[in-house]
Amino acid sequence: MTKSNEFELDNEKKQIIANDLGLPLSNITDVERMYAKIKRGMKEQYLAHLIRTLENQLKEITENKFFQIVVQPVPAEDENLEVSCAEYVEKCYFVIYYPENMHGRQLRVQLAHELGHLFLIECFNAIKDNEHYDEKSNTEPLSTLFGLLAIMDKNDYYIKKNIKIFYILHGKLSKKTLHY
Ligand SMILES: [Zn+2]
Repeated sequence: MTKSNEFELDNEKKQIIANDLGLPLSNITDVERMYAKIKRGMKEQYLAHLIRTLENQLKEITENKFFQIVVQPVPAEDENLEVSCAEYVEKCYFVIYYPENMHGRQLRVQLAHELGHLFLIECFNAIKDNEHYDEKSNTEPLSTLFGLLAIMDKNDYYIKKNIKIFYILHGKLSKKTLHY
């Protein structure tokens, strides 16, 4: 077995999972097919953990349990939008617009930067008494700093997490399917 297919769910592994869970093989393939549909939408969910966490914290800070962060792609032919931009309705919602053809890597950086603006206006203001940031403040450098920290933290998280997942999967499946 080569390294490239260690994580692939081939028929042999599906049968092992089916046996372990006491389910017919058809259940495994049905759930796999349903999951593939959900997975298609995941491509759009960049920085989902960061957005979700920030959104939850802002629900508390703004005392609005319906506070929402929305990420909205805009048709690529709209020439008014070459990079991302954000709209904030205070204490209600924050919308980030981006051209739909933006490359994933650039999009992550842009989203993290835009979230930095929101962080400064709401979260940073909540902990800093002597400074006050609003839409008119020059929050560009600090938003970029926030974005950098968020992306670096995320990369770090996934590097550690992948190693852990590798050992869990490897430990669980190696006894039965991997032959070294
Ligand atoms: Zn900005």
